[in-house]
Parts: sequence; C-alpha cells; structure tokens
Amino acid sequence: MKMICISCPRGCEMDVSAAGGAVSVSGNACPKGEAYAKSEVTNPTRMVTGLVRVAGMRKPLPVKTKVPVPKAKIDAVLFAMHQAAAQLPVAIGDVIIPNVAETGVDLVATANM
Ligand code: SF4
Repeated sequence: MKMICISCPRGCEMDVSAAGGAVSVSGNACPKGEAYAKSEVTNPTRMVTGLVRVAGMRKPLPVKTKVPVPKAKIDAVLFAMHQAAAQLPVAIGDVIIPNVAETGVDLVATANM
C-alpha cells in the first residue's frame, strides 16, 4: 500500500507491505518514515484534542492527550472529555483526567485559566 509519512513537511510517499508479521517499507528518506509506517500498520495512534467544560464558566478548557493514543480508543477519550468538568485554576500541562479512558495516558490542559 502507499502511505505518506506525516513526520515532517517533506511528506515522503512510501510503499508499505505487511506479510507474516513483518512490515517492509521503502521510499522513506529517513528512519522516522519506517517507524511511522510500522506504527500505522501494527498499532496506529493519534493525539486527541478537544474541549472540557469548566465548572461555573461558559468558556471551555482546551485539552489534549499527553501522547498519542491508539485509534481504537479515540471515541472513548472523546466521551470522557464530554463527561468531565475541570476545576479552576488550571495551568498548561495540568492533568485534567489521569489515565483517560484507561489508555494509560493523561489528558492535560493546553491553556491557563
Ligand atoms: S521519512 Fe523522514 S524525511 Fe520523509 S517525511 Fe518522514 S520524517 Fe520526513
């Protein structure tokens, strides 16, 4: 399959094939492309960003997962964001939901409020 590396603006177009548990990659200009392609084939992950309500305020708090989470967990992370209500004060990097959706990843604030 064709895959475009999104690890830098160069956007290398790679040929990726998987057979018998082995993933082969060509067309990448650096090792990041191979790592990205293998991750996409075996365990694709994404950063998740969104908003969380703030108790007593109309303005929501922007948040993100501290590191990428498995794509299969994105809906659960978004649901947890929807259910949460942050308490002020909050600083950038504060943990809003630890181990969000049992991903092992914390949901953190991306703004000071
Ligand atoms: S393979 Fe390397 S050079 Fe190519 S897009 Fe990915 S990070 Fe950039």
